[in-house]
Amino acid sequence: YTRAFTDDGQVDVDELGGKGSGLVRMTRDGLRVPPGYVITTAACHVYLDRRALPDGLEDELRDRLAALETTTGKSFGTGPEPLLLSVRSGAPVSMPGMMDTVLNLGLSRDAAVALAERSSDTRFMADLVARFHTMYSEIVLGALDDRPAVDALVAQASPGDDPADVYDRIWAAAEAALDDELSESVPSTPWDQLVHAVEAVFRSWNTRRARTYRDHHGIAHDMGTAVVVQSMVFGNLDDTSGSGVAFTRDPVTGEPGLYGEYLAHSQGEDVVAGVRTPDRVQDALPPDLLAELERTGAELEARHGDVLDIEFTVEHGVLYFLQVRSAKRTPEAAVRIAADLLADGTASAARALGLVTADQLRQAQRPGFDPDALAAARDDGQVLLTGIGACPGQVSGELVLDPDRARDRADAGASVVLGRSVTSPADLHGMIAAAGIVTATGGSTSHAAVVARALGTACVVGAAALEIDDAARTVRIGDRTLSEGEEVSLDGGSGELFALALPTTTPAAANEAMDTLLAAAAESAGSEVLARVTLPVDVDTARAAGATGVVTAIDDVLAASGDLNRLVETLLEKGLNGVGAFSEVRDAIAEQLAPLLVAAREKGVRDVDVRAIDLLADESRELLQQTAVTTRHPELALPLGVPDLIRAQREGLVRAAGSADYTGRLRLAVRHVSDPSEARALAGLDDGADAPGVGTYLTSPRAVLAAEELAAYSDGVWLEVRALQAAMFGIPARQFLTAEPLDSYIARGLLAVDPRHELDPVVVRLLRDVPTGTGVRLSGTVADPVAATLHGLGFRRFAVDLPEVRPLMLGLGRAALAG
Ligand code: ADP
Ligand code: MG
Repeated sequence: YTRAFTDDGQVDVDELGGKGSGLVRMTRDGLRVPPGYVITTAACHVYLDRRALPDGLEDELRDRLAALETTTGKSFGTGPEPLLLSVRSGAPVSMPGMMDTVLNLGLSRDAAVALAERSSDTRFMADLVARFHTMYSEIVLGALDDRPAVDALVAQASPGDDPADVYDRIWAAAEAALDDELSESVPSTPWDQLVHAVEAVFRSWNTRRARTYRDHHGIAHDMGTAVVVQSMVFGNLDDTSGSGVAFTRDPVTGEPGLYGEYLAHSQGEDVVAGVRTPDRVQDALPPDLLAELERTGAELEARHGDVLDIEFTVEHGVLYFLQVRSAKRTPEAAVRIAADLLADGTASAARALGLVTADQLRQAQRPGFDPDALAAARDDGQVLLTGIGACPGQVSGELVLDPDRARDRADAGASVVLGRSVTSPADLHGMIAAAGIVTATGGSTSHAAVVARALGTACVVGAAALEIDDAARTVRIGDRTLSEGEEVSLDGGSGELFALALPTTTPAAANEAMDTLLAAAAESAGSEVLARVTLPVDVDTARAAGATGVVTAIDDVLAASGDLNRLVETLLEKGLNGVGAFSEVRDAIAEQLAPLLVAAREKGVRDVDVRAIDLLADESRELLQQTAVTTRHPELALPLGVPDLIRAQREGLVRAAGSADYTGRLRLAVRHVSDPSEARALAGLDDGADAPGVGTYLTSPRAVLAAEELAAYSDGVWLEVRALQAAMFGIPARQFLTAEPLDSYIARGLLAVDPRHELDPVVVRLLRDVPTGTGVRLSGTVADPVAATLHGLGFRRFAVDLPEVRPLMLGLGRAALAG
């Protein structure tokens, strides 16, 4: 059940825990680590099962202790050179601050007196006795930390006081304070202190805070913790001693160079507890120690291929290493660090891509609220309301209550948050102008939500507390009243609206780093990623993100320009027989797509796929008029029901390309095609050399099974992953866009996979037979782990929503390197 730091053998984190493994490795690397040993997680499992230490463990501990006494030349519990120990928790997975550690263990009366004599300083001993009694009481006995009488006695002690006297007074005062609270007392026998501390660390695995932490982070409850028993070094010995924590790079910005804090004349817990403010290592450490710390940090970093968090203590001018682990970091830092480690050769491409998660990339690429300001705003009660987060994004701006004014203010350069009871198509110009949108009513498939997502605009809907007084140009939220023009902030992810302008941080430095990293990913992945865009400016963003081409949907473009509903009304009024309605469609497309194609030409995008109008689009159901028009003209609900509508769109595209001078590849792709005859008919509409190619979007299992034949008639076949999964489950695709109702449904254990985030194994079976060599592409939000699966199936062309381009490339790069 035990293993000395110096013992040979494989280093198994599951057995030794993270802290234990790190100490074993550092010892092997020849670093100055106070000697000690690890009690394995196996012992913890037995203890938690039977509420008793495993048979034989105490004998093992005695042997280990004897060996430790030999190595250190000190003796446990007596002079002349007493051995003190730390008993430290250390699970296989890092759970910072969740579990317990007892320091300075082994203070019998004899040991304490001997320590005072060795150091010729009774104050040092007094400090240790008080620290030990407090820690043991709290951690092993469960007492609260409140013993002013003891602290006063420590403060009064002076170097020359009689050690035995001081020990007795402090111990008695500490016991008296404990007695007010608990019936138990702290054992004065070092052996009992050790055994009970080990048991307490095992028990700390199951405290409520530890369980909650594991639940939140999806960590298994049956792992158990290892225990590290280590000889103490004393940062509180004198003024040439101290303790600190250092990161091998700045964990907030990722900037290279040691970043650390040091507190002279202290024990490690003081730095973490924040009672005293530590100094920068550069200011506080003597130059030789700083140089040693920097050199060792760099060596360790190179060996681990990651940025590390190092706990150290200086005892009388000698540096000791107490812990090393992978450092926690901000998303911006994660990106920068991965790119830098790749660039300087510390990490391989595979390793570097593994140092950033898709979520960190998402967070790092968009400006977000300053985390401190956000926390302060929440603490200050500045959250006005919490609605339903409909489109993520953190934005600040002046509150504006009507769309005309929103556009005017935006034209004048202001950042605008548009507040509406509800939005309608008539509000679109204001919604486009706004940086954020908040509505009092509506769910996540409401007009506001659908449009906001098409625009990528931060949006909160269903904010029931929002009462807008259009006449007074004010909003009431509970008992607060805000006037139009006041600054607010909106979090489209959490659904919060704040009563102030929160500063945002634009992680500018992260961009270059991100490019380096993603270039490595793209190179490994050998895949093309196209971005789904709506506005001309999106093309620039898509390019910057590394997209090789773009896809767009006519519905989205016309919705953004405000033409869609006018066209639908025209179709309702004029019917499908006259040419009038279709020529309006053609003209609107010619006008509205031209700017997008201009942007494509200017940005060197040579591949644009355009999705044809889909009046059935499940996601736009709430655009009621679309439903009305398919009710009036049911043939519009079929892909080729009204060929003239497709012709009109192709003609519109030809004109748009002409006026934009766009000569790259252009396709019009129709959704819901499932039969080769449909594809053949679609190809037969080809009328003119300069007409764009035709393509299809496959949304059904039937279409996927026929993909090869369909591809034979098409210039491009897209396979829509989300729609396909929805069809396989028979669940309307719009349910895939929101948290509820699927979250609760899955929580009830009713679906084995979450079809929004994972590829269903049955779908994988279906896709396995798709001939990926025939030009079949994939579209839809295909982030990890879906990307990895699809890459494994041989797919190499993907189209995703604009913000997902980078996370997808990361996932593909990783999948390629792992394969
Ligand atoms: P955590 O898991 O919360 O980081 P640790 O086991 O690392 O807890 O210990 C808490 C503090 O005690 C740390 O600051 C550490 O540096 C210090 N510490 C632990 N063991 C020793 C030791 N042998 N000598 C001196 N300080 C120690
Ligand atoms: Mg620690």
